[in-house]
Order: sequence, then structure tokens, then C-alpha cells
Amino acid sequence: MTSRLYPNIIITGTPGCGKTSHCESLVESLNDELRSHFQHLEISKVARERGCIDGFDQERDSSIVDEDKLVDSLEPDLREGGKIIDWHCCDVFPERLIDLVVVVTCDNSVLFDRLSQRGYPDSKITENIDCEIMQVILQEAKDSYAPEIVIELSSEDLETMDDNVERIIQWINSWRENNPD
Ligand code: ADP
Ligand code: MN
Ligand code: MN
Repeated sequence: MTSRLYPNIIITGTPGCGKTSHCESLVESLNDELRSHFQHLEISKVARERGCIDGFDQERDSSIVDEDKLVDSLEPDLREGGKIIDWHCCDVFPERLIDLVVVVTCDNSVLFDRLSQRGYPDSKITENIDCEIMQVILQEAKDSYAPEIVIELSSEDLETMDDNVERIIQWINSWRENNPD
């Protein structure tokens, strides 16, 4: 049993797979009552705002997040519940604070086009495509959380994203029924 009234959800996946799009669509699709209890935390921004950046990885062309500091900083937020964590890294949060892990996956050729459109250098595109092919993040999620709270949802188009969001909302509603105030 948990003391949270609203579940904490991680929405993870390889960069470009659609994490932020899913989070935004999810928040928009919640009814007014539920929406007032949920908050989308885009971790790349939150880490910057809270001073949890530890340097810059030139080779990978990305900021290095101080994960311990970030998790410490997020603990009070997560204790409140109703947090939607948007990050490619899912394995740093304590199991006791997480209720659902959604791994968004995407077809490689679609992902390739999205990453090219972002203007990523070839090395970064290749690294991310390899990450998706090897199912690195799905495996991290499975290694870090109980199997029943990890779900994989694929999405290349808006229709499947809507279906995925609908599924997450159904899951939130049943979590609420099973964890009454
Ligand atoms: P992430 O947050 O995982 O890096 P984004 O949500 O930013 O991914 O999505 C990357 C790009 O792909 C964006 O341009 C977004 O509009 C597009 N996109 C993501 N999911 C879908 C989808 N299901 N259908 C169409 N376009 C999508
Ligand atoms: Mn994003
Ligand atoms: Mn990690």
C-alpha cells in the first residue's frame, strides 16, 4: 500500500521515441479534476533548473546529469504523487516511489527520420538507433522494476499515440480504484 493519492508514472524510451509528446497528450487528455493533480516533469529541464547538471559530454553532445542530486531533489515531489517523469533514463528512481513505467518504442526508420530532423550528428543518431534496436531502455526498466508495472507501448503515428494515452488513463483510473483515499 502507498500513501500517495495519485500514482507516479515514468514515461521513458530512446530519445525521439515520443516521450514528451506522450506526456503532453496525456496531461491534455486527463479530465479537469485529474489534471489538477498531475504534473509533467521533463527531466532534462528540471535537472537544469535545479542545478543537477554535472558537466557536458562532448563526445555524446549531451549534458551530464548528477543523478544522485536529481533523485534527492525529486524525492519530495514523488512523495506527493501525481508526477509524470519524462526521461530516457528510468533506472535511478527508487521502486517505492514509482507506480508505472511506460516504455515508448518506435520503428527504427521512423526514429531515424525524427533524429535527423532534430539535426543530431550522425554519431548521436547511430547511438540512439542502436539503443532502440537493442531495447536498452526496455531492458533497464525490466531490470529495475517489478514486471507488472512495466509496459511497452509502440507509436509511430498520432492514432497509436491516442490509443496509448487512453490506455494510460484507464490504468490511472484503476490504480485510483485500488488505492482509495
Ligand atoms: P522524445 O521526448 O522521446 O525525445 P518527442 O516527443 O520529442 O520524443 O518526439 C520526437 C518527434 O517525433 C517530435 O517531432 C514529435 O512531434 C514526433 N512524434 C513523436 N511521437 C509521435 C507520434 N506518435 N506520431 C507522430 N509524430 C510523433
Ligand atoms: Mn523529450
Ligand atoms: Mn541509466
